[in-house]
Amino acid sequence: CGIIARVGRDDATETLLSSLENLEYRGYDSAGIAVQNGSGVKVHKCSGEVADLKSRLQTKPSGNIGIGHTRWSTHGPPTDANAHPHTDTAGDVAVVHNGVIENYDELRDELQAMGHEFESDTDTEVIPHLIDEYRAEAPDTETAVRRAVSTLEGSYAIAAIVDGEEAVYAARKGSPLVLGLDADEWYLASDVPAFLDHTDEVIYLEDGDVVVLDPDNYRITDLEGTPIERSVDTVEWDP
Ligand code: GLU
Repeated sequence: CGIIARVGRDDATETLLSSLENLEYRGYDSAGIAVQNGSGVKVHKCSGEVADLKSRLQTKPSGNIGIGHTRWSTHGPPTDANAHPHTDTAGDVAVVHNGVIENYDELRDELQAMGHEFESDTDTEVIPHLIDEYRAEAPDTETAVRRAVSTLEGSYAIAAIVDGEEAVYAARKGSPLVLGLDADEWYLASDVPAFLDHTDEVIYLEDGDVVVLDPDNYRITDLEGTPIERSVDTVEWDP
């Protein structure tokens, strides 16, 4: 239902949580975040509201790179295990997803046959496992993400973080995703209200776009890796 990602130099957790609250108007049944700070990817998620997620975060995880999600279940009931972010078996790749993966059943069978262990009933969970599988053979994570999304049938907006990498990877097909550009930090969201407290400079991504955000740069390419230029818009918004 709702996606947020944030890349900056200071801590992302508070920003992710307030951005998720800004997306609550879309309706949802579960919420979660994942942050990464060089000592592993930390995932916190539960069914219920962002307030429930916050009350569980006694000590807030810290990290300058993070992703967050509000879920509107399509595959699997609203349980803690089915809430996003989802990870690969080792917990190195965390993914949030809006949309429906139509070929998840056959992908899950193939991945399980290769030794991947699944923890949820969602269609989404194949995505982190696919990225993990392709990372083993691809020259870099960006290429692995491109191969993974090319394998998917259906609709998706995704954002992913990877242990040890100061970056967010994202892609879309059939579900909205917009990039927010602030002076010192980048945002990605399914809708501008998520980050409008921080910036009104946006790039609307299009189907087939793959984005890599790191603290210094953002880069948009197509599914083949060819760079794409997209114009920056200023949002006229009166919240
Ligand atoms: N199909 C996914 C799920 O059921 C994503 C739903 C959404 O867009 O929130 O978990």
